[in-house]
Amino acid sequence: MTSPATPDAGVGETIFALSSGSPPAGVAVIRTSGPAAHLAAVAFTGALPPPRRAALRTFRDPGTGKSIDRLLLLRFDGPELATGEDVVEYQCHGGRAVVRAMLEALGSHPGLRLAEPGEFTRRALANGRIDLIEAGGLAELLAAETELQRRAAQSRASGAVSEMIEQWRERLLAIAATAEVAIDYADEEDGAAAPTIAGAAAALADDIRMRLAAPRLDRLRDGFRIVLAGPPNSGKSSLLNALTQSARAIVTPIPGTTRNSIEVPIAHGGLPLVLVDTAGLRDSVDPVERLGIKRARDELALADLVLWLGRDDPADGMLALSSKADLDALLPGRLAVSSETGEGLDELWRAIHVRLADRVPATGDLIVDQREAALLSDACGLLHAAAAASDPIVASEEVAAARGAFDRLTGRAGIDELLDALFGRFCLGK
Ligand code: GDP
Repeated sequence: MTSPATPDAGVGETIFALSSGSPPAGVAVIRTSGPAAHLAAVAFTGALPPPRRAALRTFRDPGTGKSIDRLLLLRFDGPELATGEDVVEYQCHGGRAVVRAMLEALGSHPGLRLAEPGEFTRRALANGRIDLIEAGGLAELLAAETELQRRAAQSRASGAVSEMIEQWRERLLAIAATAEVAIDYADEEDGAAAPTIAGAAAALADDIRMRLAAPRLDRLRDGFRIVLAGPPNSGKSSLLNALTQSARAIVTPIPGTTRNSIEVPIAHGGLPLVLVDTAGLRDSVDPVERLGIKRARDELALADLVLWLGRDDPADGMLALSSKADLDALLPGRLAVSSETGEGLDELWRAIHVRLADRVPATGDLIVDQREAALLSDACGLLHAAAAASDPIVASEEVAAARGAFDRLTGRAGIDELLDALFGRFCLGK
């Protein structure tokens, strides 16, 4: 017996997927979630263990009664669970044929269907178990490749960021309530609540703004951009190769060979980095090279750090190097590096980490992406407008608009278009 699938599809259905990596592996974890999860497990294995206790079971094809695998079964009951639904996890042997037979058996069970990528998490969001920031944090955790990305994703997935935002939202609700009272009693008390609203709204806006100074998630996700710049033949491509220990960039003694920017994403010392080799900066009549030079200038504007290999003086903020140190005269006051001998490369890495240190978020920092930061910034602007408003009705409207920004932030409202994009980033079984 299974529950019928709801006509609007989605939450009423029971879904299943391989949640562990692709077979073969020692163990495979197949997860089922939805109203029919428990009954299906009874049909396949005979009896359910108590909640959250693993039990050894034989998984049988209910049609033929033949054993498919001996496995560990875990049963979870809806209300206390991340997805907000009944879940059964089958931990079976991770061989290809075992997993295939298990998935086929589950798929042939009435009321069960294969999950879409990210669908388990989407249900958790739909059931109000997690908010949009936590769901995004989970996607980031799965994609994390460096230690820094893992820490940032964890602070979002674990709810630490959501908690900070929830506290602000509660202050906002209190301000909204005061504003309503001020409107109701506007005649009698003649705006007595106005100073309270103004003070509280301005204080909240200031607290949010201060937290917005922390580095953005986008940079942690995509990598800090380190741009190698200088005239043609100053050794940029060679240095990129030496730093990345690869041969991605083209090295030739002919000036002007790097016409396009070349990007090499790497992880170093726990930091996600993108090293960018640019076209040499010089006056050129060649249209292709000029295009490359324009791109190089655009890259400089985007850079988190510029390594300057030219012999001219660097612009402000650049880390100037004395390149080809084994060959050319050293420039005083600069870090000497040679891609040929490897001289100075360790020191250069240390200098890069020192320069990027203030772009790395500290524990407890509010880690938000551009979209979230823009919404929080909107809320700040609206709160300042509320603080400046002399009419309680106007103040109340500004506060209500700020609440709208918060609702979009956590996924309470106006986010339909975002969901498909977010869950498309998940792998199957999450
Ligand atoms: P780019 O045009 O700035 O990218 O410069 P390249 O990396 O293509 O280097 C130009 C030339 O200088 C090539 O012939 C390289 O082999 C040479 N070169 C680059 N770095 C060094 C170095 O550290 N020592 C020596 N001896 N030659 C270098």
